[in-house]
Amino acid sequence: MISCPEVWTQFFEKYYSEELNKLAFRIKEGGDKRAIHVNFTRDLLVFQEGRLGEELIEKPDLVIAHAEQGLARATNIYGVSLEGCKPRFYSLPPTRKILIRDLRSAHISKFVAIEGIVRKVTEVRPKIVVGAFRCLDCGSITKVVQEEAVLRYPHPCECGGKKFVLVPEESVSVDSQRVKIQEYPENLRGGEQPQSIDVVLEKDLAGTINPGDRVVINGIIRARPRGFQQRMLTHMDLYLEGNSIEIVQQEYEEFEITEDDKEKIIALARSEDIYEKIVRTIAPSIYGYEDIKLAIALQLFGGVPKKLPDGTEIRGDIHILLVGDPGVAKSQLLKFVHRIAPRSIYTTGKGTTTAGLTATAVRDEVDGRWTLEAGALVLADKGIALVDEIDKMRKEDRAALHEALEQQTISVAKAGINAILKARCALLAAANPKYGRFDRYSPIAEQIELSPTLLSRFDLIFVLTDDPEIERDRKLAEHILNIHQLGETLEKMRSISEETKQRISNVTPEIDPELFRKYIAYAKNFFPVLSEEAKRRIEDYYVSLRSKAKENSPVPITARQLESIIRLAEASARVRLSEVVTVEDVDRVTKILERSLAQIAVDPETGELDIDFAFSGTSKRQRDRIWTMKKIVEELEDLSENGAPEEEVIKRAESEGIDEEKAKEILLKLKINGEIFSPRFGFYRIVRKR
Ligand code: ADP
Ligand code: MG
Repeated sequence: MISCPEVWTQFFEKYYSEELNKLAFRIKEGGDKRAIHVNFTRDLLVFQEGRLGEELIEKPDLVIAHAEQGLARATNIYGVSLEGCKPRFYSLPPTRKILIRDLRSAHISKFVAIEGIVRKVTEVRPKIVVGAFRCLDCGSITKVVQEEAVLRYPHPCECGGKKFVLVPEESVSVDSQRVKIQEYPENLRGGEQPQSIDVVLEKDLAGTINPGDRVVINGIIRARPRGFQQRMLTHMDLYLEGNSIEIVQQEYEEFEITEDDKEKIIALARSEDIYEKIVRTIAPSIYGYEDIKLAIALQLFGGVPKKLPDGTEIRGDIHILLVGDPGVAKSQLLKFVHRIAPRSIYTTGKGTTTAGLTATAVRDEVDGRWTLEAGALVLADKGIALVDEIDKMRKEDRAALHEALEQQTISVAKAGINAILKARCALLAAANPKYGRFDRYSPIAEQIELSPTLLSRFDLIFVLTDDPEIERDRKLAEHILNIHQLGETLEKMRSISEETKQRISNVTPEIDPELFRKYIAYAKNFFPVLSEEAKRRIEDYYVSLRSKAKENSPVPITARQLESIIRLAEASARVRLSEVVTVEDVDRVTKILERSLAQIAVDPETGELDIDFAFSGTSKRQRDRIWTMKKIVEELEDLSENGAPEEEVIKRAESEGIDEEKAKEILLKLKINGEIFSPRFGFYRIVRKR
């Protein structure tokens, strides 16, 4: 073994003299970041044929102690003592990067690098490393080094006393934090549960990372027996004692796209029918829904995020909501996208974890510390979140979701925790109607448990209904039956007939999923800009829809839809790997948008487009009627000393074209909303606000 304090002093003085001086200067100025960062691969593996590096990996406790002592003695131009400074080692060779699921007992007490996404962090709190205790009999102080989670008291005092109290002022403590790192979602194969490991971070490492961050943590694997105090078990839990942290830049670079792939992608992007091809790649086992599949494909490619000169950020991510009857393949669609999307998180509104969709701050049962845990939208940062049964989400998520969808951040301020987490992801969600089946004659806002403001955050909302229709039903049945037959055939692959081959081609993705993922990743490097013609086309479309709304008619489209069109059109251009958004892109997406609006925003009474109907559940006509009814009550209020008699009100309403049933319904609504009241049964008065 060559490691000893002297060798380390040599190492630091040879390779890190500048850093030593900087560190000494910081200490002189009273700074508290007492650490020096050593590049393992660049420097340690070069020094003395890398032996020091190898010894560090095999016997980290001893070697790091040497390094600390060596560092303490290293000279610097300020002549400051570097006692107590921490050497931190980063950039380990790839062979030392261990997957969480591959951790074994052989790794215990070894130096490793673990990469993953931060799922949980506790608040940063001081932890006692040397406890000072006062004997209650003689008053003398005894110090005890603390190495475990539970505070260790001294043995009986010299005077024989057995009772002690802790003296915090004389104890030594360091900042400490516990975090949980989880495997990357994209490295899991369909349906696998991600594994995780606890990490202990101390001193300058504490409080530097947030849930959702992608990190490499280098450190020593420790084992701790399961159980507590008197009931320790022989089974052990592994955790990582962090020595250094590297933040991973999280782009789509984890894909290795070869020249060969690139050629294939470019050829695809140039093909005439590329949009049909991608539609046939999304969930081929699900029959129909071509519009929805195209919308989902565009969502995967994504629009271009923008930052305006005034600092405002506009998201490029496209949010889609699928609403509809049970058994129309909503869940299947989501699961499919989960399998094919490059970076995705699948969850249900109820949530399989405590963290739900956004984030939660909870108090740890064991040590009482506050913990901040990332929910699905944070873990899906820079990817896509698939949330089934979103209507069943928790109250806390409901409140946080508005911010998450528009600003793409989640703010948490609770107890010792204050953080803004990033949630830059697209959301594909599904919701079931409140009353079992979807009723196309009632506004969607009344049928699902999502608020109108939340609904308006979705770029596209599709309604999937299960209406019997003989022709479609026959085709659907045939399709599903074929799939089942096929599943069987795959077992006995030998005897595939020509006919079966034909059927297989209908349910296998047109583009190989592996290549499709690379295609998406590659396309994300393009940032298409609207051409002049495209701009005019969007403008014309917007104005024409708005102008159809005459002075008194419902407003069918708002500026929100305008932004949606831009995003979708950009995504459409990306499919072709184009730098410009063309008129064709605009036409393609306005068609989708119109179909989505036609399903949700047509006032069934008039057949006209009405965005208010979709999101608030009150159409322009309804609003007019409510206004009329209020007016009538106001006018008839003085007819009697108890206010407007119901009979008269209804008679007048009928003369205005509102039938009795509707009139009574509106009166009740007005009463519930506190706009009118009944001084006596059958009489109404306006509530006047002072
Ligand atoms: P939902 O989530 O809408 O309640 P599911 O996704 O659970 O519905 O679908 C129920 C079943 O019906 C699934 O097995 C699905 O494959 C099948 N199914 C429904 N509609 C279709 C369709 N259009 N094409 C293929 N299978 C379908
Ligand atoms: Mg479902």
